[in-house]
Amino acid sequence: MSTHSTHVSQLIRPEKDTFLHEENPYEAMMSRFDVAAEKLGLDPGLYKILRHPEKELTVAVPIQRDNGDIEVYTGYRVLHNTSRGPGKGGIRFDLNVTLDEVRALAAWMTWKCAVVNIPFGGAKGGVICEPTTMSTGELERLTRRYTAAIIDLLGPDSDVPAPDVNTNERVMAWIMDTYSMHKRHTVTAVVTGKPVEMGGSLGRREATGRGCMMVTREALRKLGLPIVGARVVVQGFGNVGSVTANLLAREGARVLAVSDKSAAIYNPAGLDIEDALKWVREHRYLDGYPRAERITNEELLALECEVLVPAALENVITSRNAGSVRARIICEGANGPTTANADRILEEKGVFVIPDILANAGGVTVSYFEWVLDRGGYFWDEENVNDRLGKIMVRAFEEVATMAQRHEVSMRQAAYMLAIERVAAVHRLRGLYA
Ligand code: NAD
Repeated sequence: MSTHSTHVSQLIRPEKDTFLHEENPYEAMMSRFDVAAEKLGLDPGLYKILRHPEKELTVAVPIQRDNGDIEVYTGYRVLHNTSRGPGKGGIRFDLNVTLDEVRALAAWMTWKCAVVNIPFGGAKGGVICEPTTMSTGELERLTRRYTAAIIDLLGPDSDVPAPDVNTNERVMAWIMDTYSMHKRHTVTAVVTGKPVEMGGSLGRREATGRGCMMVTREALRKLGLPIVGARVVVQGFGNVGSVTANLLAREGARVLAVSDKSAAIYNPAGLDIEDALKWVREHRYLDGYPRAERITNEELLALECEVLVPAALENVITSRNAGSVRARIICEGANGPTTANADRILEEKGVFVIPDILANAGGVTVSYFEWVLDRGGYFWDEENVNDRLGKIMVRAFEEVATMAQRHEVSMRQAAYMLAIERVAAVHRLRGLYA
């Protein structure tokens, strides 16, 4: 597969205006890929293969709105790499969906599945729409028509979607049903993140936050810091952020601050996370929570702490604010919360970053369990799911840390190097079909 006439560094584009591209997800992913490929001395032929998604499908999704009008939405599904197994990756419904973004997220999934060493490749999908303005009936018609449009890609052995931004287990149930109607029999393993009643796995809802807690525990241990009393700050109080905060608090950590899109709340003595969760269940948002001070989101990111968990959005730690971060560890619960330019600043400051493709891989790991269980038709109890998740997350953390030490690189570069090496190894073994 090697041409040997070129070195991978000759194929890597020079950095252009990095500031301009700082927040482009595809550029963010590729800049990390390029650094890791160069450090590994990746074969130029493989470099070219891994830079190109295998398949990209753009579909028109016409549906009838409740008022009788026909509206046509645009949907995408990208399979970045399926050398290690079926494509795996979520489907998002959002106005900001672009092909570039879906492409980047698909590649991210390839690396994430390889870091935790589960037998999946990387995929992602999306439909450009504003789901908050759509009725349940419209969302169901959109989901079913989109599923029918991409059905040739889907299947337990080829491409297995999951929930992502603005999609949930209800949407996964419609995808499973639509696919099964076409196949003329029930196929539970075609999507993960389903309701437990119809083939979902216990522990899936908490899996990403649980994985974040597990790798944070490992990072604290590695740095010789006790978890009991460790000061924790969490941005985002949704699925990932609230579970991470709650589980770290249960381990004895002191959660100083949490935020959502309505407010950031702070209590230097430590927040009562169960109480904040109860407030959110009753009032939907943190806004108005009485037993804490209000701070801004910028102030939250700059709080002195042992662990900062960005678990809301991408691009929140950038070259503009990385200098003011005062955390010892950053555990990236969200996908892409740190830009490549911010990475350099954090590295100089000695911040230990647990990169997204490792930190939030607990979700896809339990999705893998769900796929395995659906195919076997035999389900595990929650304790079994959590134990197996723990083994995989701790092993992946150790493997990334060993790679970082061996090559004297950051945990992020090491995670990419480990992932690329694993995907490249399979390509070498399989050879190039011609
Ligand atoms: P979610 O919608 O449940 O929660 C998002 C939280 O972020 C909410 O509390 C929201 O109010 C808050 N938020 C939004 N804008 C904010 C802002 N400007 N400042 C502060 N908080 C803000 O979503 P989630 O499932 O928890 O996902 C969060 C992140 O984790 C995303 O990047 C997602 O891609 C990533 N992720 C999620 C999973 C999963 O299994 N849910 C797996 C891997 C990665």
